[in-house]
Amino acid sequence: MYEDIEKVLFDEEDISRAADDMASCINNDYRGCRPVIIGVLKGSFIFLADLVRRLEIDFMVDFIKASSYGGNTESSGKVKITSDISVDIRGRDVIIVEDILDTGYTLSYITEYLKGFSPHSVKICTLFDKPGRRTVPIKPDYAGIVIDDMFIVGYGLDYNEKYRGMPYVGVPKTQSNKTKE
Ligand code: 5GP
Ligand code: MG
Repeated sequence: MYEDIEKVLFDEEDISRAADDMASCINNDYRGCRPVIIGVLKGSFIFLADLVRRLEIDFMVDFIKASSYGGNTESSGKVKITSDISVDIRGRDVIIVEDILDTGYTLSYITEYLKGFSPHSVKICTLFDKPGRRTVPIKPDYAGIVIDDMFIVGYGLDYNEKYRGMPYVGVPKTQSNKTKE
């Protein structure tokens, strides 16, 4: 089915281990709290589902959708919220859950946007982190797997809306017309 994948980088076991580690940190850090977990659509939906099933704390789930526009294959730096949160986060502990932190434009924009609602705290949890690509100085509080500068797909991450359901993560054979969402 996924014959156009050049290389598998992380299999289900690798991803599961990363999710275990991140969930156990969150379980420790938020003991007795009820954080609002905000998934960044669409890429984070599979990771979020796996992460919350490992949590032993009480929590709420919400989503936000953002897209960077103006560029083609690279992030333009202009981010727009295209679907807003629906939970009142004033005074709450917020954990933003993202698939991958790349230039940092999207997450820094979303973080500042959410801070405008006066939450008690905002932390970032990302499954993948590409620190070498960072343009905006932003660091994740929880990062699962650090990778080099490469375009990956699978486990929620797409290439023209393809590969989101692939249970492992790999590099597609062609990388033109990447979508960033
Ligand atoms: P940033 O604003 O940090 O540059 O970009 C973040 C968004 O770009 C991510 O949420 C993700 O949707 C997309 N993105 C960045 N790197 C990759 C990648 O390697 N593969 C895929 N499929 N999407 C990526
Ligand atoms: Mg994303």
